[in-house]
Amino acid sequence: MSICGNRAFELLQKIGFIRCSGTDEELKAAHILLDELKSIGVEGTLEAFKVHNYTIKKATLEVLEPYQKTYEVTGLGLSGNTPSEGLVTEFKYVQQATDVDLLDVKGKVVLLNTHLSLETYERLIKAEVAGVITYSGTIIDDPELTDLQLRAIRAKHLELGQIPGVTLRAIDAFDMVKNKATKVRMVLEQDDYEVDSHNVYATIPGTDYPEQEIAFMGHYDSVPFSTGVYDNGAGSVILMELVRHYLAHPPKRTLRFMWFGSEEKGLLGSKAYVANSNEETLKAIKLGINVDVAGPIMGEDRAIVTADNSLCHYIDYLAKEVGFAISVKQDTYSSDSIPFADKGIPCVNFCRFGSPGCAMIHSRYDIIDYLSGESLENTARFVQTFGDRVINSPVFPVEQKMPQNMIEAVDKYLQKKKEEK
Ligand SMILES: [Zn+2]
Repeated sequence: MSICGNRAFELLQKIGFIRCSGTDEELKAAHILLDELKSIGVEGTLEAFKVHNYTIKKATLEVLEPYQKTYEVTGLGLSGNTPSEGLVTEFKYVQQATDVDLLDVKGKVVLLNTHLSLETYERLIKAEVAGVITYSGTIIDDPELTDLQLRAIRAKHLELGQIPGVTLRAIDAFDMVKNKATKVRMVLEQDDYEVDSHNVYATIPGTDYPEQEIAFMGHYDSVPFSTGVYDNGAGSVILMELVRHYLAHPPKRTLRFMWFGSEEKGLLGSKAYVANSNEETLKAIKLGINVDVAGPIMGEDRAIVTADNSLCHYIDYLAKEVGFAISVKQDTYSSDSIPFADKGIPCVNFCRFGSPGCAMIHSRYDIIDYLSGESLENTARFVQTFGDRVINSPVFPVEQKMPQNMIEAVDKYLQKKKEEK
């Protein structure tokens, strides 16, 4: 048997350290994947691409009126700088940033209930706010047991302009609103610069239809504070098991394996791959198979199909035939399949979601204790079972078109403006 959960689990332990976009640790993880490929006889390649990074030098927030208090904050990466003496101005809690919330906020520092979606950000820019505060966690968090999030704005936000920002804990945001803070001093000093992030690639040529390709993909970077084993060291090691399987069972179609960096910063690795590929290269890819989040001991397998609905039925029938419990639905998935689907390439995302409360992503609790080799193996085997059929079928069974509802869903996800289409 070529798929082995325990071996996958061991590799997962090896890459189970914090490996954020564009850091030395991310590159170290890329080299571990390359070394593993080499050890099984495949020459992998590394592709560098540029990402924005930043160093927060100073981030503080004080309430000046009607009481005085300093709160612990983190700086919002890439959001610019305040004057060095700080931004001293009025404060307003603007809830959901509706038109009514945003009356009379010009020059003020505002606190939001929401994340800084592109739409919200654009509204704040238009309203000419001077600074923005977001919060992380819940008011029952124990500061000893949780991390105050490190957030940054993304490239699309930057195109609209910069609003210096900080993030604080929910309990402190609650404190400010409850005690009716009216005036604050916010200080933010940061450097921003470009660094390299990396993708890892490997290819197994097809024996019968080498010009037709299937892309297996998964991201190997993590967010801060997280060893990112569940999200998505697990998908990365499942891909490695698939490399081993297809070396032992040469595929009729060509397989491209892609481990993407910087997914957590906005799918930057897969976007770089697609941007650097010509039309012919992309046209050869008949199907993208993405694995993002897997391994929880308690959980459920899912297939999210960004393709014609007939592929949902195919996977659903197959699961019933082989007796594998998995839910299948047609939808987009916030992961590296998006840039491929945006180019019209049918994609399926396989994942094993932790059951509520039993596995956590994007926190210090994304740890190996909640995962197992057995879970990795079960997901990997089903991906392989599906893969074997489509990769080796005499006629490729997946329709080469993106249905209109998925085109619209992908556009919506990418927040494309009408003029960009
Ligand atoms: Zn992920």
